[in-house]
Amino acid sequence: MRTISVLGSTGSIGVSTLDVMSQMGGRDAFQVGALTGNGNIALLAEQAIATGAQLAVTANEEHYSELKSALSGTGISVAAGKAGLMEAAEMDAGIVMAAIVGTAGLAPTLAAARRGADIALANKECLVTAGELFVQAVAAGGGKLLPVDSEHSAIFQVLETHNRDALERIVITASGGPFRTWSREKMAGVTASVARVHPNWSMGLKISVGSASMFNKALEMIEAKHLFDVRPEQIEVIVHPQSIVHSMVGYTDGSVLAQLGAPDMRTAIGHAICYPGRPNLNVDRLDFAKLSRLDFEAPDEDRFPALRLARTALTRGGCQAAIMNAAEETAFEAFVEDRIGFLDMAEIAEAVMEDMLAWQDATDIDAIFAVDAEARRRATALINRKSAA
Ligand code: NDP
Repeated sequence: MRTISVLGSTGSIGVSTLDVMSQMGGRDAFQVGALTGNGNIALLAEQAIATGAQLAVTANEEHYSELKSALSGTGISVAAGKAGLMEAAEMDAGIVMAAIVGTAGLAPTLAAARRGADIALANKECLVTAGELFVQAVAAGGGKLLPVDSEHSAIFQVLETHNRDALERIVITASGGPFRTWSREKMAGVTASVARVHPNWSMGLKISVGSASMFNKALEMIEAKHLFDVRPEQIEVIVHPQSIVHSMVGYTDGSVLAQLGAPDMRTAIGHAICYPGRPNLNVDRLDFAKLSRLDFEAPDEDRFPALRLARTALTRGGCQAAIMNAAEETAFEAFVEDRIGFLDMAEIAEAVMEDMLAWQDATDIDAIFAVDAEARRRATALINRKSAA
């Protein structure tokens, strides 16, 4: 029987992970170590009882007593805060689904990697902020790194490890988000409630807004470098509005291999938690007769500067990707609070990246957190200036 812990079980990926587990036989197929959430205590308690988890953790210490009373009499242990997340990560589960949103996911996922768990990685920030350190931690622990992002899952599925020398390029597809055809002038007036509605995928708020600004794709470009050990010039992005081709790998003989499927995260989640097998999942099947067409178009880096920033971060190396991520995360929070406009997010990320050019590579977790905190501090100063103007 597989043993699994789900960090971020109450989020969009977490809920889909539990659904995949349930489709695969639930308690007959999986023994659940820890489940973690943050604010959604009712759902966390419900999930812990339904799966028979050993431990339920809220990242927010203020919710500890609420979770404790929701689970009293069930025999399920309860913990809270950063220490609770570490306890969850260190529990003896063979697979850890890393689905906490944002930088908060880094320390627990790193701890799970170090102890040798297979990491089903949804959280982007682990690779974006601490790419080399994270990949080294997985290698040292001896577990597998299994991508959950549909694009990286696709690349992972069609990457011929026996033909690594023949790998020429990876092509990451992007839906283009809800503003694919919008002018910059029109995008300037966008609010969070508009930006969060994605045409193809149902996702959490951060990633939905990131899809609209294409910052999500920027993070994926950086993830791809670390996951597949490719050079920046080998990473291409192509807009594919139907989100059917999830990504591709091009080889030196001119062949391009692609993975296709309905836009449903459960396929990539199932692949990661069952690897090297494949689960039998109740997701939509592609009907090629009905598909009729697949479109592709070059991304517009003037309207979506996040892609240009990712390429800059990849070329510059060092901690520029971590700086871009921290500044963007800070700007995203200000955007959803209506303190800055949609286009300001990229402007702030770029300004902080330029401002912190002298910051060298961060080689340990404390240095990474120091870079992250400084980038957030500088982004906050810019946001305050903008919102006061
Ligand atoms: P959600 O916002 O839906 O869920 C986030 C999860 O993290 C929830 O369990 C939430 O708890 C928890 N959480 C929030 N803040 C904290 C914190 N400070 N400390 C610890 N836990 C916290 O996000 P998604 O599921 O959409 O995304 C999760 C990760 O996966 C992200 O990094 C995203 O980029 C990535 N991803 C998502 C995809 C998708 O389709 N959704 C696709 C590919 C990657 P609670 O809800 O209880 O507050």
